[in-house]
Amino acid sequence: MKTPKICKTRQELKAAIAEANPGSLGFVPTMGALHQGHGSLFRIAREENELVVISIFVNELQFNDAGDYARYPRQLEADVQLAADAGVDIIFAPEAQEIYHAGLPLIKLASGRMGELYEGASRPGHFDGMLAVVSKLLHLADPRQGQYRAYFGQKDAQQVVLIRRMVADLDYPVELRSVPIVRSEKGLALSSRNALLSEAEKDAALVLHRSIQLIADRAANHEPLNIEDAVGLFQMEPLVELDYFTVVDPNTLEELAFNCQDTPFTGEGLILVAATVGKVRLIDNQPISA
Ligand code: AMP
Repeated sequence: MKTPKICKTRQELKAAIAEANPGSLGFVPTMGALHQGHGSLFRIAREENELVVISIFVNELQFNDAGDYARYPRQLEADVQLAADAGVDIIFAPEAQEIYHAGLPLIKLASGRMGELYEGASRPGHFDGMLAVVSKLLHLADPRQGQYRAYFGQKDAQQVVLIRRMVADLDYPVELRSVPIVRSEKGLALSSRNALLSEAEKDAALVLHRSIQLIADRAANHEPLNIEDAVGLFQMEPLVELDYFTVVDPNTLEELAFNCQDTPFTGEGLILVAATVGKVRLIDNQPISA
């Protein structure tokens, strides 16, 4: 197992990619505090590409809450180890001034209506900030020749939909790949923020997955979804405060009309849930079809 090369500046990254001169490059942007959810993206990128580049950058622009930004876990040494285990070749780990060298951007990307729903409603500006940094990172890791692929987790389903639209609408020369959610044995979606939960909070947080499963099972059985039953499960968890639980169109993210009716589910949907456990905001989701 070889140690990944760490690049701190865009020049170092560019030189390292040019030196490797890969026929295909797989790029995985992350905010660090890596876990096996990230590991799964790295491994798939490893299988599909000659060169695997990841970035570790906690992007201030996508945090609407300064406390959340300050609390976000940072652990570069452990991250390098996990990346090495997964066969990553290059880690781009810039400081904020390297990314925003000319100050915060004046020219902005607007995520539009899809960026104002759900996570966007609860975290104003989050998706515009996310698109700003993903856009820059996609340019910085671009090998300019050969295949270029970028990998994103289905864990952040709304993010994947928005990045897909950005890449299509603005013709970014990159192939997007999305990777299924990795969960703990008990079902909790792995997240860097889980490190901030107590054991009792981690147990309580399992209600996110339980509520999704209840509705996904009904969808699979062509039953009415009656999502108020899922909402009811949250009322029995005093440590968990539900933000939203909804079923949406997976392409437009608009809420599906039959949610509250007594008609059986047919077609394609995406269950989305967000809740706060202690001080930590958690999200989860699952595609459904019947
Ligand atoms: P983050 O470091 O949280 O920005 O995540 C970096 C990438 O890893 C994003 O594309 C996430 O969707 C993905 N990711 C995070 N957690 C998981 C997980 N449990 N399963 C799959 N992908 C994940």
